[in-house]
This record gives sequence, structure tokens and C-alpha cells, in this order.
Amino acid sequence: MKQTNRVYTGLPTTVFEVMSQLARAHDAINLGQGFPDVDGPEDIRRFAADAFITGPNQYPPMMGTPDLRQAVAAANRRFYDLDVDWRTEVLITSGATEALSDCMAALIAPGDEVVLIEPLYDCYLPLVLRAGATPRLVRVTPPDWGLDADALAAAFGPRTKAILLNNPMNPAAKVFSDDELALIADLAVAHDAYAICDEVYEHILFDGRHHTPLMTLPGMRDRTVRIGSAGKTFSLTGWKVGYVTAAPSVLEPITKAHQFTTFTTPPALQQAVAYGLAKDDRYYRGLADDLEAKRDRLAGGLVDIGFDVVPCAGTYFLTVDTAVLGLGSDDVVVCERLTREAGVTPVPVSAFYQSDAPGRFIRFCFSKQDDVLDGAISRLARWLAKRPGG
Ligand code: PMP
Ligand code: GLN
Repeated sequence: MKQTNRVYTGLPTTVFEVMSQLARAHDAINLGQGFPDVDGPEDIRRFAADAFITGPNQYPPMMGTPDLRQAVAAANRRFYDLDVDWRTEVLITSGATEALSDCMAALIAPGDEVVLIEPLYDCYLPLVLRAGATPRLVRVTPPDWGLDADALAAAFGPRTKAILLNNPMNPAAKVFSDDELALIADLAVAHDAYAICDEVYEHILFDGRHHTPLMTLPGMRDRTVRIGSAGKTFSLTGWKVGYVTAAPSVLEPITKAHQFTTFTTPPALQQAVAYGLAKDDRYYRGLADDLEAKRDRLAGGLVDIGFDVVPCAGTYFLTVDTAVLGLGSDDVVVCERLTREAGVTPVPVSAFYQSDAPGRFIRFCFSKQDDVLDGAISRLARWLAKRPGG
């Protein structure tokens, strides 16, 4: 047989699936793959259920239902004071993943360079490579995850087509500072590059922080693609409803990629997400407050039993330094051992780096019920106590 495409041939299964399978096999508490263990608001789910029954259930408009595109434009205005034309500047996709894939297919050509900041969400690198582009990697590392201005500047050059930015950042739980955003914007403008912004955690920031879309910075409105996800904003990750905001000339080719990728997304889900986006401030505050309390619950419990916890400013992930436990510096082995021996599954942070990853760090997802988090802490405490010297 002829060779299949090299980008995907031999590529390992994504760490999230691997760790979830391992968790099931060992009946472990799964704090690996990032998903809430309670479904999002019942009224949104009921809205979808009614919409499935009353219909229509046929292809909606290719760019998304007018109701949802209007709701996305309204949310841009409400949260970020962005003036967005819902007819020409909003596209609905089957999750943020499809949006990212459409962006790469439409904006990036063979020979281009794309600047990426490690740690990388799993699909970024394959999408860049599949587009025929060369990734230019800059890294941030725990515990402070600071962005080195010189390293970032050095990654930009005449062939830079785009920077792909994830803010707030998975798995780092980093929220880029105003200075870092200004630096990124300056470089994008200076090199006439697009900014593809994965902002799926835009409503999950802690300690009074507010999200600043890169799109709102000077010179960025017309070169930025802003991507959101109902999966994160409404704790409905299985729905796979994403939304893209971009200037008409940038969105137009992305829409062309979308038309031959999924073409549309289930209309009932779109209508329910439109309803959800209009929820009052209490909902959005409640989402962040609830997760902030869970962050504190898990972080506090882990610190109490001897783990070194890295600060977490947003998302629903907590990075933990395992050095103090003397488990060695292979985070994959640490995650497997914790799953098998302690009955708690994290994911290795090294999976988010292309190579030479910092080895001691693991990620726990805390969008879980309190008793699940407490149960995980108890299991880890019991396991630690049983170890020699524990
Ligand atoms: N980007 C990041 C950083 C994510 O963490 C996730 C989700 N898990 C996605 C994109 C994918 O979002 P969706 O499920 O809407 O495709
Ligand atoms: N985004 C989720 C995470 O980081 C997982 C999504 C997936 O499994 N594709 O864990």
C-alpha cells in the first residue's frame, strides 16, 4: 500500500483519550481529560431538547443560525466592547477544534511559518504541519510560565503568517498579562501576521481577572481570529459548538474551509447556545466562582498532602510539581503510577511540548464535583502514606 499522510501516520492517540482509557481500566478517578462531570445548565439543555422536537432539523445556514450569530456578536459587544457585524464577521463551527482546523486550512499555505507557544493544545501542531507550514515554537515553563520577549521576537520573521495563541492557556492555566499581549500584538502588526486566538476559556478566569481578547488591542481588530466554545462556557463539551469572530476578509476564506469540513452544525444545539449566551452576568460570574472554589479545594488538598502546586489563573486545570515526591522525572510514568497505584488519573504536562519538556509536572482537571475532588485527594493521601517513608 502507498504511504498515508506522514503528519498522521504513526501519530500516537491523543493523551486525553489514552489517559481516559487507562483511568477506566483501573477504575481510577479521572482528573485527566478536561471535562466537567456535571452537565451545564438544565434550561439550556431543555431549550435544545425542545428545539430537537419542534425543529427544524435540516441543514441550517452554512455560517450558522442567525440567532446564534447575533448572540455571538452581542456577546462580543457585551463582554469586550467589540463591534461585530453578525452577518459577515461570525461563523459557527462544530467546536473550537473545527474552527482551528478551518483557520489553518484557510490562512496558512505551504512554506509559511506559524508561531506557537508551548505548552501546546494537542491539535495545534498536527494542524500546522498538515497545512504544510513550519512551526516556530516558543516555550513558557512552570512554575511562572513567563513569556520571554526576546525568544518570541526571534520566532517572528519574514515568513511568519500567523501566531496561534491560547489565552487563557491549557494546560498552563496562564492568563497572558497586558504586557505580553501588547508584545504579541506589536510583533503581529510589525510582521503583518494573523493572530489565531483560541479563547475557549474566556469566561474561566479567577481572582477578579477579566479576559482581554488580543483582538481588542491596537492594530489587531482586522488581523485576529477569535475562537470561542460553548463546550467550555456552558459545561457541555460533548455538544461541540464553536464560534469564530473575524473581519469579513479574514472570515471569508475560513468559511470556505468550513463549507467543506462540516458545512453546518446541528441547528437545535445552535439555538440553545444562542439562548445560553444571553444569560445574565450572574451565570458567568457563577461559572468562574464555582470553578475558583474547586481550584482552591483541589489545590489546598494537594498542598496538604505534600504536592507542590503551580499557581492557576484560569481554565480548569491545575499543574502540580511532583519533584518533592521523589517519583522520578518522567511525568508519563508518574501519571501511570498514580492511576494504577493510587487510583487517580492526571495527564503528563510533557505531552503538551514537542520535545525536551520539563519532566516533573502533571495536570489535574478540577471541573469535578466536590466529593470527587475530595475522593481523589483521599486516595492520593492513602497512597502516599503507604509508600516507603510515607
Ligand atoms: N482549545 C483548547 C485550548 C481546549 O482546551 C479545547 C478543549 N477541550 C479545545 C480547543 C476544543 O474545544 P471544542 O471541544 O469546542 O472543540
Ligand atoms: N480540552 C480537553 C483537555 O485539555 C480535552 C479535549 C479532548 O479530549 N479532545 O483535557
